[in-house]
Amino acid sequence: MIDEIKFENLIEPAMDWFLENKRDLPWRQDQNPYHIWVSEIMLQQTRVEAVKSYYHRFMEELPTLQDLANCPEDKLLKLWEGLGYYNRVRNMQKAAKVIVEEYQGAFPETEEEILGLPGIGPYTAGAIGSIAFGNATPAVDGNVLRIISRVSDDDSDILKDKTKKAVTAKLREVMPEGRIDSEDASLPEAPGILNQALMEIGALVCVPNGAPHCEICPWHTMCLAKERGTIDGLPVKKKAKARKIVDMTVFLIEDGGKVWIRKRPKEGLLAGLYEFPNQPGHLTKKQVADYVEAHGFDPIRVEKLEDAKHIFSHVEWHMKGYRVRVAAIDEKMAEVFPKELETEDYFVDLEEVRRAYAFPSAFQIFRNILV
Ligand code: SF4
Repeated sequence: MIDEIKFENLIEPAMDWFLENKRDLPWRQDQNPYHIWVSEIMLQQTRVEAVKSYYHRFMEELPTLQDLANCPEDKLLKLWEGLGYYNRVRNMQKAAKVIVEEYQGAFPETEEEILGLPGIGPYTAGAIGSIAFGNATPAVDGNVLRIISRVSDDDSDILKDKTKKAVTAKLREVMPEGRIDSEDASLPEAPGILNQALMEIGALVCVPNGAPHCEICPWHTMCLAKERGTIDGLPVKKKAKARKIVDMTVFLIEDGGKVWIRKRPKEGLLAGLYEFPNQPGHLTKKQVADYVEAHGFDPIRVEKLEDAKHIFSHVEWHMKGYRVRVAAIDEKMAEVFPKELETEDYFVDLEEVRRAYAFPSAFQIFRNILV
């Protein structure tokens, strides 16, 4: 159980191990809160290796918080394309605007102020506050919960808020403070080092998939799960509810030069991103031809594509796709798209569809077929 281990004994070995073994990552070159914030939000979406190129591109296009605040939405979503959870980057822009307007562009420093920004929860506030400003605030995410549950042989459900609060409170009691004795100017103050150390142990040592590397773990002599042979059962996560399955049919309707795309509504899942027209259910070739004709096109050829699946946290899309070659899209535009359509529909050049429009991952598999 969590009380069986003395948290103060975890701190020094973790920090010493980190100083010896930390990876050289682009966002660890300084303690600029904007850099830390962007990297932390990206790291919540995907692996470190994948984040590097997104991070570089984002910083090249939007090098300052002011640039993020002023960025047009389409460009912002394009920079985030493939990372998913697009509301996170929208919230980042909202927060950037708040910082520009209410804090004269200077990132707020206290835990309370950082937590008050749109889209910033306790983990991100802890990471930014500790690394950029030396705040003694823990940053507890699933990785930290996993390693703590193992080192303390704690079988509490780590998906429960209660467990997270208990671990956060324990860490808060033992957070170190101030600057450590080092000539390395790229190092944050002690709280930032500890939080990064816990993240790094979770990423490199006490890993989520496969066996943990106990032989190189700074806690291997004190780890209760290792001592008791309970590693395989930890952490405990109660089974997530089964995802809802949604069947749909996606249409790539093109005339050899242009393809029909549409912008999703401003609210809801994947808001404001682009997609190909689609319908609920799995349609047959005949039904697809009927759909296309009903929109005023002459289908020349209907080609069935490979089935595709996309998994969101609570929903799975099971998609059938059809590529439909039609004649002369431009001439049909006016009659196909009456004003009362709620979505924004466009016919765009095939080569533009990849360059200029942000598509969610769910539709990228179809876009890749086109271009
Ligand atoms: S000793 Fe092994 S199981 Fe225990 S915390 Fe370290 S890596 Fe994880």
